[in-house]
Amino acid sequence: MKNDIERVAQLFKEQTNSLSHNESMVHYEQQREQYDKEYLAFIEYYSRDECYLCGKSFKSISKLKPCLH
Ligand SMILES: [Zn+2]
Repeated sequence: MKNDIERVAQLFKEQTNSLSHNESMVHYEQQREQYDKEYLAFIEYYSRDECYLCGKSFKSISKLKPCLH
């Protein structure tokens, strides 16, 4: 069991070797914030039947005016 943990830790260290710990954590936090924002926006607009990217109502989207999102 202990060997497995050490092996995983070693793999993680190798994978993140090019980034300092702080850099990779900041990057991760920024990505997570971005995902959270997009997810919340998507849920909010979707619950109103609107595209979260352009704010068009799904009901108003026709074949003549397609929403590209
Ligand atoms: Zn759209």
